[in-house]
Amino acid sequence: MSKVAIITGGGSGLGQATAIRMAQEGINIAVVDVSDKGGNETVERVKAVGVDAIFIKADVSKAEEVKSYVDKTVEHFGSIDYFFNNAGISGSGKFYLDTTIDEINQIVDINLLGALYGVRYVAEVMLKNGGGSIVNTASSAGVIGQDSVVTYSATKHGIIGLTRSMVAEYAKDGLRVNAIAPGPTETPMVRAFYEANPEMKENATGGIPQKRLGTPEEVAELVTFLLTSKAEYINGEVIRIDGGFTSTK
Ligand code: NAD
Repeated sequence: MSKVAIITGGGSGLGQATAIRMAQEGINIAVVDVSDKGGNETVERVKAVGVDAIFIKADVSKAEEVKSYVDKTVEHFGSIDYFFNNAGISGSGKFYLDTTIDEINQIVDINLLGALYGVRYVAEVMLKNGGGSIVNTASSAGVIGQDSVVTYSATKHGIIGLTRSMVAEYAKDGLRVNAIAPGPTETPMVRAFYEANPEMKENATGGIPQKRLGTPEEVAELVTFLLTSKAEYINGEVIRIDGGFTSTK
């Protein structure tokens, strides 16, 4: 029987590229996003590859909507084998003391609580079915400190704690949980961020040993490898995919 993946933030960027790459492996996809436009576009592109896909509109920062996307996936496909826990937003690019409490709350709600809720409900289904594989999206900002991203960085460090501690509790039951830590990757989110903060793009590319941003397709390849059985003995890892960026810090 075909395997089933849930991909949050599947309507754009890393999530969309991964949905398409996983579909090429014959995996059916539940695309979760707040954006109707992006979600529906991904479903169309995934179906064109020849697998089944559904769009579930949900805000990952709302626990009841997370439970609902998990329930709807199980209703439609019968199980969940893979989970790319990826939806997230970037910060405003301001120094921490210039950010408002509302901005802090919004980033924490989506990036950290959204990821925690996702693992909470998805792992429950996976463990009932004998196991599964999860990849959480951290960031370079989850493994090093950087200016202008304090709250974002705190959430992404949190993603790594979530990843490692889940392994401590559930690896013995057949669950694999890994994280990816991409450097700046050319997606709509990053394009928008650098358009608002052009001086930071120059800094970012200049500081990358490979002297270019990553691509969503490169990240999709890594996530597909980590989620599927090719990576069966990799667990609790944080894989950096950043052109050497954090290795020089
Ligand atoms: P993106 O903006 O292209 O895609 C993010 C998607 O998430 C969008 O479709 C958006 O609608 C969706 N989303 C936002 N808030 C949501 C919510 N509350 N509920 C459901 N969906 C929501 O961005 P991306 O670059 O593909 O980012 C994906 C993940 O990768 C994020 O967690 C981001 O922090 C992380 N990341 C990105 C980069 C990069 O350079 N692009 C680097 C490191 C980490």
